[in-house]
Amino acid sequence: MEKDKLRKFIDIIACPKCKGELILKYEGFICPTCKLIYPIVDNIPILLIEEAKPIDNDK
Ligand SMILES: [Zn+2]
Repeated sequence: MEKDKLRKFIDIIACPKCKGELILKYEGFICPTCKLIYPIVDNIPILLIEEAKPIDNDK
């Protein structure tokens, strides 16, 4: 399953902004501290602050 493949990244990656833990969600890797979503493209997490999208808390 694709999500299991991505799960291994959890151990090795951190938020480039705060170096905090990331949470794997369907939309990408989420930093709850920065409230940013880092997208996953071709099974590779894009850990760039410029590519991150803010979490929409209204939904
Ligand atoms: Zn962060």
